Amino acid sequence: MLDKIKEKINNNAPLDKKDILKLIALLTTEKKQEIYNLADNLRAKIMGDEVFIRAIIEFSNFCRKNCDYCGIRGKNKNVKRYRMTEEEIIDNCLKVEKNGFTTVVLQSGEDMYFNKEKMGYIISEIKAKTKLAITVSAGERDIETYKFWYDCGMDRYLLRFETSNKKIFQKIHPDDDFDFRIQCIKNLKSIGVQTGSGFMIGLPEASFEDIADDILLCRELALDMIGVGPFIPHPDTPLGVNILKYDFDFYSGIIAILRLVNPYSHIPATTAFDALQKNGRDLLLQRGANIFMPNATPQKYRKFYLLYPDKPCVDEGADDCSRCVIYRITRLGRKIGKGPGHSVLNKKNDA
Ligand code: SF4
Repeated sequence: MLDKIKEKINNNAPLDKKDILKLIALLTTEKKQEIYNLADNLRAKIMGDEVFIRAIIEFSNFCRKNCDYCGIRGKNKNVKRYRMTEEEIIDNCLKVEKNGFTTVVLQSGEDMYFNKEKMGYIISEIKAKTKLAITVSAGERDIETYKFWYDCGMDRYLLRFETSNKKIFQKIHPDDDFDFRIQCIKNLKSIGVQTGSGFMIGLPEASFEDIADDILLCRELALDMIGVGPFIPHPDTPLGVNILKYDFDFYSGIIAILRLVNPYSHIPATTAFDALQKNGRDLLLQRGANIFMPNATPQKYRKFYLLYPDKPCVDEGADDCSRCVIYRITRLGRKIGKGPGHSVLNKKNDA
């Protein structure tokens, strides 16, 4: 069963939904190691051994929305809210560059205090003062805002669709519309922003078919980066009573399949995998991932940005995380990526 799929991969033929469902089924058998190896080899062949580092600054945990799985949803009264000042954000970007990193990710809830102009100012200042590539992740905005931020110097944007199943999407996103979410992603691509999106594995009611569709939607959207994490129930949310559906090997196997279907997309080893298993992100880097995103948020804010419980690295400072990430990557025999690590989707078009 796996031989035919291997042949397709070797011939650069795209995997279809049937192939993906077969691979998902094999994750619960001893064949899973072969799938991890296939993904690791494909990652090495297409993306090389470099691991690009994107340092995240969680600059505000205010959010106007109430996604049913999210620990910082607006209605969660147990969250102490914070907003970094513009100068604080810019200063911390200078530190990110000083620590040797080439990309900063500015992430927040959907906090409209950081409107078009304020965010534009921050992006322009970072561009003027550093050589950092800038990724923003601040929710759904109109196309004019995205365009303005792009003109100010924003390189990339992250906006996950979370699930390709429209019914589930509507159920867990009381403030959102699936079609609009997808339109936002398409708008970003149309402007020329390197666009990242992705989904959650193991949402209540989501089936293997849904996971296969999630993976295929990533390919259909031609994403420059695909961020995927396990669904980890947060007790202060409407979905907090659900338990983890799968084990670590299954979740990380989905990352491997994601790589097999999207060979040219950057795939981060997302932080949530360390919450599932100690050094989980290291294993992901050996199962298809090629990006690491250490936390560069000032230590005093970290414990207030808990999208899910038991988030790792909340007691460390940015310098600790910088040292740790370099150690973890080199220990695997991999190299730290040089330069900004921009999208390589054009490499696919040249192939
Ligand atoms: S997932 Fe994002 S938009 Fe939804 S509540 Fe959390 S921070 Fe807000």
